[in-house]
Amino acid sequence: MPIRLLSPEVASQIAAGEVVERPASVVKELVENALDAGAKSVSISIEEAGRRLIEVADDGSGIPADELALAVTRHATSKLASARELFSISTLGFRGEALASIGSVSRITITSRAVDASIGARIRVEAGQQDAVEQVGIPVGTVVQVENLFYNVPARLKFLKSDTTERRAIDTFITRYALAYPDVRFKLSEGKKVTLQTSGDGDQRAILAMLYGVDTAKQMLEVIAEEDGPSTPARSALPGRAGSGQALKLSGFISPTSVTRSNRREMTFFINGRWVQDIPLNAALTQAYHTMLMVGRYPLATLFLEIEPGAVDVNVHPAKAEVRFREQDKVFSFVQRAVRRALLAYAPVPSLPPTSLWGSSPATRDYPPSGPRQAGLDWSMADDAKQMHGTAASSETEAGQSPVVGADQSTFVSMPLLRLIGQIGATYLVAEGPDGLYLIDQHAAHERVLFEKLMLQHDKRNIPSQSLLEPVSVTLPPAQATLLAGQLELLNGFGFQVEPFGPGTFQVRAMPALFSGSDAASALRALVEDFEEDETPLQAELEARLAARVCKRMAVKAGQALSGEEQRALLTDLENCDSPRTCPHGRPIMIHLSVDMLERQFGRKGPR
Ligand code: ADP
Ligand code: MG
Repeated sequence: MPIRLLSPEVASQIAAGEVVERPASVVKELVENALDAGAKSVSISIEEAGRRLIEVADDGSGIPADELALAVTRHATSKLASARELFSISTLGFRGEALASIGSVSRITITSRAVDASIGARIRVEAGQQDAVEQVGIPVGTVVQVENLFYNVPARLKFLKSDTTERRAIDTFITRYALAYPDVRFKLSEGKKVTLQTSGDGDQRAILAMLYGVDTAKQMLEVIAEEDGPSTPARSALPGRAGSGQALKLSGFISPTSVTRSNRREMTFFINGRWVQDIPLNAALTQAYHTMLMVGRYPLATLFLEIEPGAVDVNVHPAKAEVRFREQDKVFSFVQRAVRRALLAYAPVPSLPPTSLWGSSPATRDYPPSGPRQAGLDWSMADDAKQMHGTAASSETEAGQSPVVGADQSTFVSMPLLRLIGQIGATYLVAEGPDGLYLIDQHAAHERVLFEKLMLQHDKRNIPSQSLLEPVSVTLPPAQATLLAGQLELLNGFGFQVEPFGPGTFQVRAMPALFSGSDAASALRALVEDFEEDETPLQAELEARLAARVCKRMAVKAGQALSGEEQRALLTDLENCDSPRTCPHGRPIMIHLSVDMLERQFGRKGPR
């Protein structure tokens, strides 16, 4: 067959195939248009899972009558004027393709009235053929009706899944966007039935409950993290420096380690307000849960990343389901750290019953977003941030802003004075507190104790170092040796004295006094493993991680019998820790069996 130009009809159906795959993609495009138009209220109705009808009505800025015909023309958009702007897109749409694509595979009717127009107008497009624009009276805003989707593309119709599946795809989409835009009122109806409705009052927890159910929603942990770009405010005042910083902000919700799914489907990322489905950030999220979840289990998360538009390329996928980051590693590690920190900070002693933290009201709307739990958690979050980054100014203001903090912090962060009972299985310490029994993982506890001591000494720039009687040499594979060679100065700052000693070999001459008597070679190997894992962490974080790593290696092990004196010393040291509840890697240190719970278990009290 000779080469021929495709007819416009075929070409537009091919193009439409990229954007409009199923009813949910139509819903996505129309809702995104409504949001771009600044709508405060978006109302979606569907019939027959969207095959018969999809209608999206908004109260946004509307389309002027003389632009209606253009709106349904391919590559016509009001959101992009030049190629340069392609790299700083702040709207959801920009390709000018959606309405034209939808119009080529359905019958579409757009009725709209622009803010400054006294009357509205309507245009109808069927299989790509436009009718004349006619005048109609409607309120400001836009109503788009899409009827008989794919009626002229039978092959597409065959690929649609069952009504239930297609409907679920629409539901999922709308709920996610409702969560991302809590200030916008969303309403989804199927036939006469309203299946989802949000108030637009900004309450994300209420929407979470619709998404995951009330119980799970209550347990979801809030993530809030921000990172300034390299230019500080003072610097960016300099000419030419403004905007060179790449500020990052992450907010949203993640599940605690006790709430998981067997697939990744509940991991959702919004980037600058756009749901992006296929991104490497999913890996950053799962890595943040590393060692906290069982193999094959995945967290639930809805996270909103805000990044300067110029630092992300959204123009890599026709349906914009993928993006690329200018500094992928940086974004990756920011997300991983932010999630990890939230997880660690929120990790409660496992027995704390969530109901007592949240109050007992089962009503969806009644979560106290600033109730006692919030305050306590904010505090421990700040606490954790301090630990990871020295005394970061931001974490201090965070703590200072929380009004209820003083009252509650002891409940959540510190631990009560405990009376040692003994050791079981050469692994756990058993202790009694004012409110019940505590089981303490000796390894995790010692890890925490060493870590806090080391970081405290490090913050004071004074880590006592102890020379080894005999230097120990360690030979490493080439890649690790190179890594280590680049970090010798950092290690010296931690009280190690490590020197190159022939190819791939290093000599340890001294190590922190805190670890005196421990195996120096093993400590060094633990440190190098850490370098390997992480390519580009921040300095402060690298230090904290190194410290955590080496402390883990140096801590007493499970299965190691401790003398009564050692047990008591460990308990006292733990009491003096800032975060006695979790080890530096985030696992719980203690399990609390409250008197109340024991009484219920023994049938002395009725179940709750
Ligand atoms: P894009 O969103 O990429 O610009 P579309 O084909 O989705 O392309 O829409 C074309 C144009 O029609 C938009 O740029 C916008 O000006 C206008 N438009 C579409 N939907 C709406 C709406 N709901 N409210 C106001 N304007 C709209
Ligand atoms: Mg659009």
